[in-house]
Amino acid sequence: MVLPLARRALLAGRRRLLRPGAAPRGERRLSPLSSPLSSPPLPAAPAARLCSGGEAEAAGGDGAMLRHLARKLRACGPVTVAEYMREALTNPGQGYYTRRGGVGESGDFITSPEISQVFGELIGIWYISEWMAMGKPTTFQLVELGPGRGTLTEDILRVFKQLHSVLSKCDVSVHLVEVSPKLSEIQAVMLTGGKVQPSPEDESAYMKGISKTGIPIFWYRDIQDVPPGYSFYLAHEFFDALPIHKFQRTEKGWREVLVDIDPEVPDQLRFVLSPSRTPATQNFIQPEETRDHVEVCPEAGVIVQRLASRIEKDGGAALVADYGHDGTKTDTFRGFRNHKLHDVLSAPGTADLTADVDFSYLRKMAQGKTATLGPIKQREFLKNMGIDLRLQVLLQNSGDTATREQLLHSYDMLMNPKKMGDCFNFFALLPHHRLVHPDKKDKPESKSPLPPVAGFNELLLK
Ligand code: SAH
Repeated sequence: MVLPLARRALLAGRRRLLRPGAAPRGERRLSPLSSPLSSPPLPAAPAARLCSGGEAEAAGGDGAMLRHLARKLRACGPVTVAEYMREALTNPGQGYYTRRGGVGESGDFITSPEISQVFGELIGIWYISEWMAMGKPTTFQLVELGPGRGTLTEDILRVFKQLHSVLSKCDVSVHLVEVSPKLSEIQAVMLTGGKVQPSPEDESAYMKGISKTGIPIFWYRDIQDVPPGYSFYLAHEFFDALPIHKFQRTEKGWREVLVDIDPEVPDQLRFVLSPSRTPATQNFIQPEETRDHVEVCPEAGVIVQRLASRIEKDGGAALVADYGHDGTKTDTFRGFRNHKLHDVLSAPGTADLTADVDFSYLRKMAQGKTATLGPIKQREFLKNMGIDLRLQVLLQNSGDTATREQLLHSYDMLMNPKKMGDCFNFFALLPHHRLVHPDKKDKPESKSPLPPVAGFNELLLK
């Protein structure tokens, strides 16, 4: 059943104007950079508070976040990198995402859905393919974590519309988890034309509306607020924005990297090492760890635990796409501003801060409640999903040379191993019964084989 339908979506002719792609974060990261942790060894955090006279001014920003952090550091001492990142990104008044949220060509970094419509279309096909493989439940929620400008959901909903004959008996709703008021406004315009209303107080959603294709959409601040129910989850470049703890192995054992005021340079932040072990070093470093520097994102772990519990209880699947590694990398903490690398400690609140996702940690945090697939490289996933056929169709349907060049350019950005093809990965959480028949042990011969999971295997087309 999936086969002709997927083919129909891949062959659909509609093409949206492609945005000229600025460099994505993953690509930029490939250029050499001087790691803030690789230069002089970190001094241990001093026991006494250090004061830098005068008020701080951030270069390029209005300095409000730096002033706020400087006051906090003077009063309370160094903070963990996680605390620093949380403040810089999502502080309700001055956080980067709260105020600026610069996804897209005119912002600070560009993401795959912003580069090409094909990306979101193939993800839309993935959800339909899984919905069918799971027996076409009569209702499902599409839940996106960190939807940015709403482009990915928009492209997925277009596929759902193209396949409306298949989905017509299914009650679909969209649920967006977004902390940024600024980005939720942009999403509302993108997805509903701006026709949204604040949610009544008795609902957990802070805003709701109807998509241009007639599907109800709700906005939440936290995954916990999303109502339970059969759900397909999506997290694209979401986990890399969550706060990480950083740890350094020293002769005296593991120490946590902290952020403090630099005593030599007024109003400048610097990294220091905790003078002794911290609760985080005790809890997050595995005894068998062999690396000298480790980053851990407990918030990502908690969210994956929640997703896995929800999928185990109510059914569905989660697709995570991000740049990352499988428990091998060390210092990946980076800042981006205006599509360029930016010192992570300079002008906090004015730049995007990000760290590679550790998929081995996500797998561990699923705690066996679901099966996991991946990470698989973006170029393999998209190839399996039929990106080459989709490109051919769009090329055939485009009349002018500029559009054809744009299509080839965006394909290259997504697929080239030196650009986003290799460093971005796909990872999925699926109910165990999606991969193994529940009664396989007892009667292995009695069941027909389960359909392969698209993307991680080739999408079947006829
Ligand atoms: N998925 C989009 C945007 C990625 S940027 C894309 O690929 O284009 C990260 C997104 O996560 C932004 O929408 C940001 O506002 C949101 N975000 C960051 N931290 C969050 C948090 N703790 N809870 C919910 N959303 C968050």
